[in-house]
Formats: sequence, C-alpha cells, structure tokens
Amino acid sequence: MMTVAEDSKVQVVVRVRPSTPRELESQRRPVIQVVDERVLVFDPEEPDGGFPGLKLGGPHDGGPPRKKGKDLTFVFDRVFGEMATQQDVFQHTTHSILDSFLQGYNCSVFAYGATGAGKTHTMLGKEGDPGIMYLTTMELYRRLEALKEEKRFEVLISYLEVYNEQIRDLLEPKGSLAIREDPDKGVVVQGLSFHQPASAEQLLEMLTRGNRSRTQHPTDANATSSRSHAIFQIFVKQQDRVPGLTQALKMAKMSLIDLAGSERASTTHATGQRLREGANINRSLLALINVLNALADAKGRKSHVPYRDSKLTRLLKDSIGGNCHTVMIAAISPSSLTYEDTYNTLKYADRAKEI
Ligand code: ADP
Ligand code: MG
Repeated sequence: MMTVAEDSKVQVVVRVRPSTPRELESQRRPVIQVVDERVLVFDPEEPDGGFPGLKLGGPHDGGPPRKKGKDLTFVFDRVFGEMATQQDVFQHTTHSILDSFLQGYNCSVFAYGATGAGKTHTMLGKEGDPGIMYLTTMELYRRLEALKEEKRFEVLISYLEVYNEQIRDLLEPKGSLAIREDPDKGVVVQGLSFHQPASAEQLLEMLTRGNRSRTQHPTDANATSSRSHAIFQIFVKQQDRVPGLTQALKMAKMSLIDLAGSERASTTHATGQRLREGANINRSLLALINVLNALADAKGRKSHVPYRDSKLTRLLKDSIGGNCHTVMIAAISPSSLTYEDTYNTLKYADRAKEI
C-alpha cells in the first residue's frame, strides 16, 4: 500500500500586491524587497549610508525621518511579487494540492492579512481577472472530465460567511445556520445550500453574487466585509467504475477562505501565546490563529487543539491538521503606510511554517 508522503502538509506563501495610487502619491519608501521566488526582505536597509535630505522620504521634504531598516529576511514556500498573476498564484498554491484532494484528503486554503492587503483579490478576484476560487474549481472540472471513464463523480459547491459568530449562506441567504458533527459526513452546516453550476459563467455569477451578500460593517463603508470570513467549499464524491463490484465512496472537501482582516488581532500572534478575546477582536480569527499555533507546537505529538472556540474553527475542524493539506496565502501591501500590519502578517506567516 502506498503511504502518504511525510513532507509538510502546510505551505505558506506571501503575495505582495501592487501599490495603490494613494500609496504611490505618498512617496513613502517601500518596505518589501522581493529577492527571489522564495525570499523577501522586510524593511530593507537603504543602500547608501545616507545623507539626510538626499532622497524622498528624508527629513527635509516633510517625509518620515530616515531610519535604519529592520532588514529582516524571510523565506517562504513561494513569494509572489507585484507582477504575479492570478494564474501564477493558482499554479503554486491550490494547483499543487488538487492531486491530494482527489485522493480524498480535505484541503484548506486561507487568505490571511490586513484589510486592503489583497485577500479578496487573490481568492475571488475581479471582473475579467478571477481568483483562486474560480481557477481551482475550473481546473477541478477539467481533471474530473479526464477521469470520467474510470470514476463516477459528484461535485457540489457552497458559499457561506462567518460574521459575528454566525454562519450565513451566501448563495441562499436565510437565518443563521447551526453546525453539527456527523459521524459519517464530518462537519455539517445544517440547511446550507449546495449547488452544481452548469457553466463557468454560472460559477462566476455565484461567486460574485455570494460576495455581494457578505456583511458589510455597518458604521464604516470602507471596511467592506473586513470582519467577515467568506468560505467557498467544493465537495467531491467519487466512486471507481468497476464492473460487478460496488466500490467504496470517497468524499473530500476543499475550503477556500477569504479571512476577515487581521489588523485587530494583536501583535502577540507570532509568539504562540494563547490570545484572549478583546472587544474588537474577531473571535473566529483569533481562534484560527490559536489552532494553527497549537498545531505548530504539537508537531505531530498529540495535544489539545482548541477547535471548539469559534464557529470558523469548528467548521474547519476536519480540514486543518491531521492529513489535511493547508495553504496559507499571506497578503501584504508594499507600502510603509501599513508597516505594522505587514510586519505582523509576515511574523505570523513565518510562524505558520512550523506547522
Ligand atoms: P482585502 O480583501 O485584503 O481587504 P482587496 O483584495 O480588496 O483587499 O485589495 C485592496 C485593493 O487592492 C482592491 O482595490 C484590489 O482590487 C487591489 N488589489 C489587491 N491585490 C491586487 C493585485 N495583486 N493586483 C491588482 N490589484 C490588486
Ligand atoms: Mg476583502
């Protein structure tokens, strides 16, 4: 019998988005230097010893005072620079776990990062430039089509949101939904709608419509969906076609998650400390951080993983840890305007490599 490769089941990648017009206008120094496809430097040292006022950003032009950078080098499974396309990100993230998904392992892909760092762009994308949710589903359909002589497949998708510790169906919005653990099916959301998009257009339409149903922060129009976690799930049921024999059903699910903004989670993320909930901190996001920290600490040993602490972690209990494949995509902006958020995201992504 074949055994599953013992290499890490967690991949951590970083995507640096392009500067926005506002960031370009602010003429701050860039805080990210992409060295190659695996290495980046946060807050690089400026190349010359520096005469104050010589460059933009020096003290004489009203910019921030010149300072020595932290000059921290980080290594990840992959680093995507500003020029990376959705296709590049897809090829080096979910594409590489589709094999294991088709072998029956649950998979999860998280976009982590502060609001505005590029999570939704990466997962959902925009018109004419669809993201990983779409690209993954289309590639999956292609693979299943190629295998259809050998196997019988059923594919269903669902799209839900965790907002304020309530689960809502984004495709058929109704009241909040409860989670149940089924001995055969694993984690089940009661009353969640499942769909079989008949075409690529229909899939895109569902993704866009679902995203539009996400909860917007009531008091701040700019903080669109920054506190909601959007979870797109693909369920595949498969059975070998062998004449005269009833083959066992194999089921697996892939969860693609556009997480709430990480800006309110405190800087203690990276230390592995158990975080306590604060009034403004997203409970599900903190619980996820704690679960991943517990998995990193456990390193194969049996230990308590606090899945029960939030809706998000209960929902993903059968999709992170164990034999599941996980990809974390840390989204960051290149600008010093978001220095602390970027630093925290990188520290946390670095920590996640230990899982
Ligand atoms: P988040 O979901 O993390 O809050 P968004 O994905 O909404 O952030 O990105 C913020 C803005 O930056 C959006 O206008 C988005 O279109 C743009 N953006 C993000 N990443 C990219 C990218 N890789 N290429 C082009 N534009 C991007
Ligand atoms: Mg977003």
